[in-house]
Amino acid sequence: MSDNWITLIPDDPRFVPDSARQHRARDRLVTALPAADEIEIDTSEAVQFMDCGGNFERVLCPACRSDLTDWWSDRMDDDYDATGGFALATYATPCCAKVLTLHDLVYEWPQGFARFSLSAFNPRVAALDERLRQELEAILGTKLRVILRHL
Ligand SMILES: [Zn+2]
Repeated sequence: MSDNWITLIPDDPRFVPDSARQHRARDRLVTALPAADEIEIDTSEAVQFMDCGGNFERVLCPACRSDLTDWWSDRMDDDYDATGGFALATYATPCCAKVLTLHDLVYEWPQGFARFSLSAFNPRVAALDERLRQELEAILGTKLRVILRHL
């Protein structure tokens, strides 16, 4: 038995919507995905890494598409502090010296960093409907990144 999540995080990794918006978004997702095992909100003081589990393939430079998977793995250690979470400091990529944070890399499949997330656990759908995503973006007041996590 494997588990799946659809997780939505804000475009800005430090952004946390106010609680009224959070609850409206959760209610909307409960209605939209009635077969899901659970719809969960998670907030934290520290910036957390939201991974895609077994869907992970590689990490690319957004500027030149070089494969940065090994470089990324070392930067994840540099960037993380057990008490403060991820600093999201800026780094120059080894391929073309593009200055960016780890959130700005191209992840296949998508992953990212967040202090707020909205997740559907075992949603019984393979992907999030595009119109529903836009609706949730309007409710939460932010662009959203969709992470499909498989374990
Ligand atoms: Zn590059």
